Amino acid sequence: MGADSTAQGPMRPAETGTVYDAIVVGAGFAGMYMLHRLRGLGFSAKVFEAGGGVGGTWYWNRYPGARCDVESLQYSFSFSEELDQEWNWSEKYSPQPEILAYANHVADRFDLRRGIVFDTRVTAATFDESSKTWLIETDRGDKVTARFCIMAVGCLSAPNRPAFKGIEDFRGPIYHTGEWPHEGVDFTGLRVGVIGTGSSAIQSIPIIAQQARQLTVFQRTATWSVPAWNEKLTPEFLKAAKADYPALRAKARARPTGFYFLFNSKPALEAREEERERQYEEAWQRGGLPFLGAYGDLLFEKAANDTIADFARKKIRNIVKDPATAELLCPENVFGCKRLCVDTDYFATYNLPHVKLVDVSKTPIERFTAKGLEVNGVEYEFDAVVSATGFAAMTGAFEKIHITGRGGRTLAEKWQAGPRTYLGLASEGFPNLFMITGPGSPSVLASMIQAIEQHVDWLADCLGHMRDVGAASIEPTRADEDAWVEHVNDVSTVSLRSTCSSWYVGTNIPGRPRVFMPYIGGFPVYVQKCNEVMSNGFSGFVLEGGHKANAEPQVRFTERWRVPLDIEVISPAAVAAKRVPVV
Ligand code: FAD
Ligand code: NAP
Repeated sequence: MGADSTAQGPMRPAETGTVYDAIVVGAGFAGMYMLHRLRGLGFSAKVFEAGGGVGGTWYWNRYPGARCDVESLQYSFSFSEELDQEWNWSEKYSPQPEILAYANHVADRFDLRRGIVFDTRVTAATFDESSKTWLIETDRGDKVTARFCIMAVGCLSAPNRPAFKGIEDFRGPIYHTGEWPHEGVDFTGLRVGVIGTGSSAIQSIPIIAQQARQLTVFQRTATWSVPAWNEKLTPEFLKAAKADYPALRAKARARPTGFYFLFNSKPALEAREEERERQYEEAWQRGGLPFLGAYGDLLFEKAANDTIADFARKKIRNIVKDPATAELLCPENVFGCKRLCVDTDYFATYNLPHVKLVDVSKTPIERFTAKGLEVNGVEYEFDAVVSATGFAAMTGAFEKIHITGRGGRTLAEKWQAGPRTYLGLASEGFPNLFMITGPGSPSVLASMIQAIEQHVDWLADCLGHMRDVGAASIEPTRADEDAWVEHVNDVSTVSLRSTCSSWYVGTNIPGRPRVFMPYIGGFPVYVQKCNEVMSNGFSGFVLEGGHKANAEPQVRFTERWRVPLDIEVISPAAVAAKRVPVV
């Protein structure tokens, strides 16, 4: 079965009227695992997916150089030891085609395809208060009813296309990294413009530069990036890693980030300068996101952060030969404040004679023209433009669906001033509607596949329990949701990550309220909270009939989520006061 094939004709309006236990929206890793768990519990379920195949992120983001930035041995499902043992990753950070092949392998291995309706976008979901069911409508005319509606729509799945003036005048193609053509793009001999310098840009720029005759990058904010030092994984390495795979998975679950790496909890500010330089150099040589684990206080203390920022700036200046370009490439903001990038030869690419960097921080892109782009009165001519402008993160995919809950209130109305959820799993006023890695959960601050698995297992346990006790609906209380939203916000303020403009806070999209959306208190702390909620009979939720959830019998969560926190994350006074290991 090819990556994009549809296993069978999707159900069409003829099936209108079918009642399912659950409808899942999205067939990325979240939707796939959710379907697997629902099936295992004997629930009837269907998944609607806008794309033509499984894999979500890895189905859409086919730009050159796309690969994961969490090591593949950990950026993969952990629920099946057999799957872990049989799948062989070829590289430390595997490329997009291999991750997509993995998603397809999972779909086939667990016979998921027949439960998924491809090429079908959910447009509306409406709660019927009398029957306590959801009516789900699609762009292909389907209208199906389900007890539960589970949004597995992705945190980074709604492309951000800035409204540049004159965009329709441009005669060449414009490719968004998040909707890359399946047949690929050959830039050989072309003049190419790239807008953006986030993770998608820094991965694609070095590869596009190998093909293009001329490459111009438009940078609004310089990016912090650490070398990946990507490499092939040898059979010997894989054998050794797999011999202890369950232990690696358990260690990963116990980390604030949900993946395992060397972490030095000592404060940078207590180390002597030479010692710090040595520590940073060693961490740089290991590369990748774990570079931020060189010291424990880097994301809490600005003075500590300045030391790693200075080190990284020196690296950029050493790599980039032209001093003016090097200075432009040196970020001024907090190191790791926006999502840290992981690259292969990004900075060195600017040493190539046909690669040029244009600063648009003070003089923004004015307009597209028929031939290219205009900045500060200068027209840059291109044959093709790459828009690496990111996503309407966390809430963008929800905004595209007309979701109506109790009393006719829409989710868009409720979330106008920022998303409001209980645990990032559910929202008051929207009974039986769930989110996988919704805002207010660790999601994008954790290794996402672990975050997904934990949510899916929690939901499966919850739905199983509801069936056992005959509950028709579940919904968070307003008070508990408010308290959680406040906690998510409070915790974020002690991290330097809350201080800059980024998609974590929604400010990459003009007009969005500034709210720190993911939960930054650490993955295991969050997991323990979810476990407690369940063990206490779904405290903070109301089950059907107005019975307080904690009047229900004791319920059990999936055992592998009994997660200890295995490291002390350094805590300045504010963090200690809140007793949270902020990541
Ligand atoms: P997605 O993979 O985004 O899937 C959501 C699916 O829902 C999509 O297929 C979409 O088409 C579908 N959908 C949305 N709305 C509708 C609708 N209304 N109707 C029907 N279908 C709909 N995370 C990491 O932890 N490590 C990494 O290395 C990493 N690398 C990344 C690289 C890129 C280029 C990007 C963009 C993200 C990366 N991420 C990474 C985050 C990544 O999104 C998650 O790791 C993970 O793949 C998310 O899976 P998901 O199923 O939750 O969402
Ligand atoms: P992004 O990080 O949001 O970067 C978008 C870039 O476009 C930024 O440089 C932004 O500048 C720029 N931009 C946006 N609008 C602009 C405008 N109007 N004019 C000029 N520049 C503009 O998006 P992304 O690179 O797609 O990455 C999003 C997230 O996906 C990542 O943070 C990561 O979590 C995930 N991802 C991971 C990998 C990986 O390595 N595995 C790869 C790709 C994506 P500003 O910074 O000034 O806003």
